[in-house]
Amino acid sequence: MTYIVQKFGGSSVATSERLHHVAEIVQRTRATGAGVVAVVSAMGNTTDELIALAHEVNADPPSREMDMLLSTGETVTAPLLAMALSSIGVEAISLTGAQAGIRTSASHRSARIRQVVPERILDALQRGVVPVVAGFQGMTDELDVTTLGRGGSDTSAVALAVAVGADRCEIYTDVAGVYTADPRVVPEARLLPEINYEEMLEFAAVGARVMHLRAVEIGEAYDMPIWVRSSFTDEPGTVIHRNPVSHMEDRKHVRGIASESNVAKVTVLGVPDRPGIAAALFTPLGANQINVDIIVQNVSHDGLSDVSFTIAQSDLPAAQKVLSDVTLAIGARGVDARADIAKVSVVGTGVRHTPGVFATAFRALADAKINIEMISSSEIALTCIVDARQMDEAAAALHRAFELDKL
Ligand code: ASP
Ligand code: MG
Repeated sequence: MTYIVQKFGGSSVATSERLHHVAEIVQRTRATGAGVVAVVSAMGNTTDELIALAHEVNADPPSREMDMLLSTGETVTAPLLAMALSSIGVEAISLTGAQAGIRTSASHRSARIRQVVPERILDALQRGVVPVVAGFQGMTDELDVTTLGRGGSDTSAVALAVAVGADRCEIYTDVAGVYTADPRVVPEARLLPEINYEEMLEFAAVGARVMHLRAVEIGEAYDMPIWVRSSFTDEPGTVIHRNPVSHMEDRKHVRGIASESNVAKVTVLGVPDRPGIAAALFTPLGANQINVDIIVQNVSHDGLSDVSFTIAQSDLPAAQKVLSDVTLAIGARGVDARADIAKVSVVGTGVRHTPGVFATAFRALADAKINIEMISSSEIALTCIVDARQMDEAAAALHRAFELDKL
């Protein structure tokens, strides 16, 4: 029998009407002969509300208690969807993450799935019953409830799909799929019928917030096709899989433009140019959970150089605190920071190996009179750091330059 995992995000299950609609989607899929596992998020903004409530009670709530609290969001949705299914004659059974066999590490609020023990789910499927699993949550070996990090229901869904040997995992959300650019930034953005895991990971990493990164990573590791589509329309959405058919012969070298505005740039000035300095600079940042993204070190003059790097804007205050000690310790001249920075990336499997991609990108930005402050490139992306006020313009210029509005 063919199994399909269908995951429904917060907006798709926000009200009782939406739950009935979701029940119909499940019913329709079953009518094709497939066994369905449904995975649900918390209704609407429940998770945000629970977090706000926790902080009213305690400014620094213990993370174990946060997991007990936040997991309740999904725990509410699962039985409600099971009831909605039952009301249209589809037999269903709701399961918590723990009951569904999701075993995780003990790092509360960002637990990793170690193993899925799918017996209970397989048993339901074999009896023709729809398991409705609370996403985002799991359990440790000590039977403590954990959550997988914000957006983690996607990861629950793909992990379950792998564990039951599903044909595919469908992620139902409130956007129609993955676009060539964020449609709020570039109105001409076009829906991509398909994309491969690598490109999707790059998109997600540079800010296209369609899906949980870890879900795509699991999909890639186990070759599980992921369909991203809207529960509000009947459009087919985007398929994320290994070898998109349209790629085989006539590869589009560039798949899309990703952009992200909440970026800060830090420059440590007059850094002595000797071994061990980069380690001295970046080790304390890492120790304080500050993720450093793009790093540029200038050529040194008189034994001194400037080191610039980007971080998330929200990490800037913490980084400044860490760096004021470090600059003293290594004898640097000082720190310069800017919060109004944005990242714009050209993403595609062909970026690195197609002659002219870099030239086209830089020409497009130059013609739009956009100054590039930093550049970095990987196998499948070219990223430029620009002034935040020019982000939209930069993304649109690149989108046009690579003719992404045309099929
Ligand atoms: N409810 C959780 C969140 O809002 C998990 C999810 O929806 O994927 O982050
Ligand atoms: Mg989500």
